[in-house]
Amino acid sequence: MSLNTVRELYQQVILDRYKNPRHRGMTQPIHRQQRGHNPSCGDTIQLTVQLNESEDFIEDVKFEGEGCAIAIASADLMAEALRGKPVGVALAMVEQFQGMMKGAEEFPQEFRKLNVMQGVSQFPVRIKCATLPWHTLKAALELTSPVAKDGFISNESDS
Ligand code: ZN
Repeated sequence: MSLNTVRELYQQVILDRYKNPRHRGMTQPIHRQQRGHNPSCGDTIQLTVQLNESEDFIEDVKFEGEGCAIAIASADLMAEALRGKPVGVALAMVEQFQGMMKGAEEFPQEFRKLNVMQGVSQFPVRIKCATLPWHTLKAALELTSPVAKDGFISNESDS
């Protein structure tokens, strides 16, 4: 594919996810929740996570909030990719996603839909928009109870 085709595809998927997110809402029940804020753009999302009984698998992830197309599309694609995945795999994917934003790697076949976000790595000011849902997910999974921490986590200090 030519670079222009790739760019068009990337824009189409992001706009589609932004206008018609598949995973907006809140999980029932809520086992983990966390709000995240990206001050450099103004994106704010609230993630809710439903876990299995032994709390080592993600049954469902949903998000609420307001943000730019990149933040919302990233949240929606993340939620889709993480359904039914072990918590350990999800945490490894947070690292992988951050690596992809630095141009380092891309996701294997199973998660290839996430590679559409790779285009964002060309726009350094938008990287925090794309990583916000992943940062927020990591914070949510590191909690040990369904009670939300006060306030927002912020990715402002992230380089
Ligand atoms: Zn944004």
